[in-house]
Amino acid sequence: MAFLSRAFWSMDFTHTAFDRFCQRIASRNVCTVADFVMHAAPPTKPFVVLRFDVDYREPHGLALAEIVHKYGLHGSFYFRHRAGGFSLDVMRAVAALGHEVGYHFETLDLCRGDFDRAAALFLDHIQLLRNAGLEIRTAAAHGSPSTAPTYTRNLDLLVQRPNLLEQAELLGETTLNVDFARVPYVSDANWRWRRYAHFEPDTVGVPTTLRAVTQHPDAALYINFHPQQWFARPLSTLYFRTRNRIGRQVRR
Ligand SMILES: [Zn+2]
Repeated sequence: MAFLSRAFWSMDFTHTAFDRFCQRIASRNVCTVADFVMHAAPPTKPFVVLRFDVDYREPHGLALAEIVHKYGLHGSFYFRHRAGGFSLDVMRAVAALGHEVGYHFETLDLCRGDFDRAAALFLDHIQLLRNAGLEIRTAAAHGSPSTAPTYTRNLDLLVQRPNLLEQAELLGETTLNVDFARVPYVSDANWRWRRYAHFEPDTVGVPTTLRAVTQHPDAALYINFHPQQWFARPLSTLYFRTRNRIGRQVRR
C-alpha cells in the first residue's frame, strides 16, 4: 500500500515528477533556447535545452518555472496571444525568475493563411510584449491544424518570409534555427513522451519516458514540455490525462 501511494505521488506529469527531473539534471549544463541558438558551437556536454510551450493554463507555466528556478536553472517559456491577450503578469513573473520568455505564434492560423496580415500581426504581437517590458529574443511556432489551404503549419510564415526574424529583431525560432543533428529532440506533446534522433516537423518519434531520456548522464537533450499537462495533484493529472485520451478516441 505504501508502495502504491509512492507510485501515485511520483506519477508522470505531476510537480513531484518534474521536481525530480530538475534534480536529476541540476548538475548538467542547462540552457535556454536563446543561449543555444546564439552559440555556433554546441555547449559542453552533458547539456539540456529546456523549452516550455505554454499553450493554455498559463499559471501552470509559472509553477514549473518556479521548480526550475529552485534548482538554479533556466529555461525558455513560450506564451500565446489568446482571446484575452497575452498573460503578461504570468510572463513577467516567469521572466523575474531569470527565465527566457518568448512568443508562441500562430498568426497564420489567426489570419486564415494570409501571409501579409500574419507577418504584420507577428510584428505587432512582439512589439506589444516589448512595450510591456519583456525582453523577447526567440519565438516558437504553435502547432495546430491549418485554417487555410495556403499553408501547412504556422512555421511556414518564417520559412517563406526569412527576413521577418531580423525585422522582429529575434535571434531565432525554436525549430527553424536549431540544428537537430546536434541534439536529439524530446517532447511530451499529447501526454506521450517521444524522442526524435534527428527531428523534423511531421516525423514520428520513438516512444520513451522522461526517466529514460535522462538516464545517460552524458546525453545532449532538447526537451519540449507542455506545462498545461502538468498538475500539482496526481489526481488532477489522472483526471485530465484520462479525459484527453477519451477525447482523442471520440475525435478519431
Ligand atoms: Zn503550442
